[in-house]
Amino acid sequence: MESRTKSSDIAARAEELMFRITVPSALFHDGKLNTRTPITGEVIARVKTQDSDALDVAIGEAHAAFREWRNIPAPRRGELVRLFGEELRAAKNELAELITIEAGKIVSEARGEVQEMIDICDYAVGLSRQLFGLTIATERPGHRMMETWHPLGVVGIITSFNFPVAVWAWNAAVALVCGDALVWKPSEKTPLTALATHALFERALARFGEAPKGLSALVIGGRELGEKLVDDHRVALVSATGSTAMGRAVGPRLAQRFARSILELGGNNAAIVCPSAPLDLSVRAIAFAAMGTAGQRCTTLRRLIVHESVYDQLIGRLSLAYASAPVGDPREGKTLIGPLIDGDSYRAMRHALDEAASIGGKIYGGQRLFAQERPDAYYARPALVELAEPSPVSRRETFAPILYAMKYHDLGEALHMQNDVSHGLASSIFTTDLREAERFLSAEGSDCGIANVNIGPSGAEIGGAFGGEKETGGGREAGSDSWKAYMRRATNTINYSSALPLAQGVVFDV
Ligand code: NAD
Repeated sequence: MESRTKSSDIAARAEELMFRITVPSALFHDGKLNTRTPITGEVIARVKTQDSDALDVAIGEAHAAFREWRNIPAPRRGELVRLFGEELRAAKNELAELITIEAGKIVSEARGEVQEMIDICDYAVGLSRQLFGLTIATERPGHRMMETWHPLGVVGIITSFNFPVAVWAWNAAVALVCGDALVWKPSEKTPLTALATHALFERALARFGEAPKGLSALVIGGRELGEKLVDDHRVALVSATGSTAMGRAVGPRLAQRFARSILELGGNNAAIVCPSAPLDLSVRAIAFAAMGTAGQRCTTLRRLIVHESVYDQLIGRLSLAYASAPVGDPREGKTLIGPLIDGDSYRAMRHALDEAASIGGKIYGGQRLFAQERPDAYYARPALVELAEPSPVSRRETFAPILYAMKYHDLGEALHMQNDVSHGLASSIFTTDLREAERFLSAEGSDCGIANVNIGPSGAEIGGAFGGEKETGGGREAGSDSWKAYMRRATNTINYSSALPLAQGVVFDV
């Protein structure tokens, strides 16, 4: 770790990147929201925030824009998303560098986040010609029954700091081709990348030329602004990504007014390592899934359930990987693990490790690093913790790089341990035994929204539906048929005969 970097260098670099992406500097100078870089922990921008009146105007404009946008043919709407994908391609490196500066991701992961945004644009462009309904057999002669899908309305998008811009793109690209308008409330920890992303979207809008004013709004502020967005009756769907605590607050408020929700909340993801597991591959997959993004992915591997016959060998190899994985400045090419987002995050990690130690957990790593050179930043060596059995600390999500390892004796017990947590997001099994793999994927296997074989739980592709069960919230985004959440369905029955037969043989002759 070089100590020479001053935050002012980073602030100047962030400003230059914002300038290149054409974000007006008035939006991030002299505002009320201090933006810090986790690389040094110091303030790099002061971002303008919006109050509830500005949100009210943005929702009003989005609502008016929706009424026009819904009548533009979907393939034409797809053209706007195609142009946005082009803007993202052109600015990929600049936007990725801002993600590194603001969220602390290493370079390849930051570029990966922008690539994911490009991928969802490509997907949504194709989808804009595939928003199909069904024709269904009817019991009545001379009739036809079908379903049609219509645009839904204004979609509120609330996002978390750890995927500061890709989560918006997942929602926005699909919602736009579905004919919806957007209001985005990003994490208060990552407003610069949100401003940059929205500026790129506005460039696409300008090139497209025929989108109604107010089709997409960005409102920056804290939780109160999110609450206002959630409570506004003009917002038909809220897609909220963040902690389970946030979802627990948001879900009932939306249900209260019968609005739709997509909740993408926390995870406590496990992997089962079986006797036949390919060990080299397993160690690499576990290392990326558990330590990558400094443990700050919703799909981060947090629990490892290892067959007793391979436990010692695997833990031996993993403890070496944990001791040697390069932690440091995420801008440096050799770094694999960047900083935690802030001090609260490190304190939560410390608290969990102290709790694990108090119940006899054997801990490798977990120390704070570079506290002298960078006193306001929070770098930590990832922690591997051996536990004799599951405990409250391993049953909750601590959003930091901690992996709890436990032994199992038979697969039924391992499946029980894997599912015996309140979250249900991502899971994996490492095995070359077909029976074990299929049992893991079966109805009595993993209860998660994502269940993988011989790859880790993190690193989803946009073609599949993404989301999880139980306290992960039940929502699905991205591929497969997730688009249906952004549209409303109508069932239509058409009588092309001159008779009027009633369903179920009902007779009503007047
Ligand atoms: P967070 O819950 O602190 O904040 C997320 C967003 O919700 C922010 O924009 C915040 O301002 C807003 N918010 C908070 N309380 C709110 C309320 N009552 N009403 C309206 N808005 C509110 O989460 P975070 O720390 O930014 O992100 C980390 C968490 O997000 C982890 O738990 C992680 O697992 C989860 N996450 C889940 C997914 C997923 O797809 N399942 C993806 C990324 C992150």
